[in-house]
Amino acid sequence: MSELSDLYQEIILDHNKRPRNFREIPSCTCVAEGNNPLCGDEVKVFVQLESEKITDVAFSGHGCAISRASASMMTAKTKGRTREEAREMSQAVRAMLLGPEVEPPRTLGDLVALSGVRKFPARIKCAVLPWHTLEAALDGESAVTTEE
Ligand code: ZN
Repeated sequence: MSELSDLYQEIILDHNKRPRNFREIPSCTCVAEGNNPLCGDEVKVFVQLESEKITDVAFSGHGCAISRASASMMTAKTKGRTREEAREMSQAVRAMLLGPEVEPPRTLGDLVALSGVRKFPARIKCAVLPWHTLEAALDGESAVTTEE
């Protein structure tokens, strides 16, 4: 039970129940689709870039609670950042989830809630997917699929 409550921490539950920026941006500058075949998560990330600054970011699609909460938290955290800051944040999240266990950088703020999925290796890809997709959009790629 305690492990489950770690995974579904309140903040994750909240973002899953009321996802932020869950919509499409029809004429955005960058868009990418992410696919996690292991879980069935599909996410589409829309980014509006104006001279290197992310003025709007949103997502659509369907997936499990973890992928949805991660996408929601991602949009809330990266809006208003530069492309480079968003990329750095994404890399820090991926390092927190996939790398050796270390104290996550303070700049991540409440994104640290996502680190609970480390105990559930099958769910790590769910949490990483939206970030991977955001990076693809920022890099001008149109689609990503989680690898083994
Ligand atoms: Zn999932």
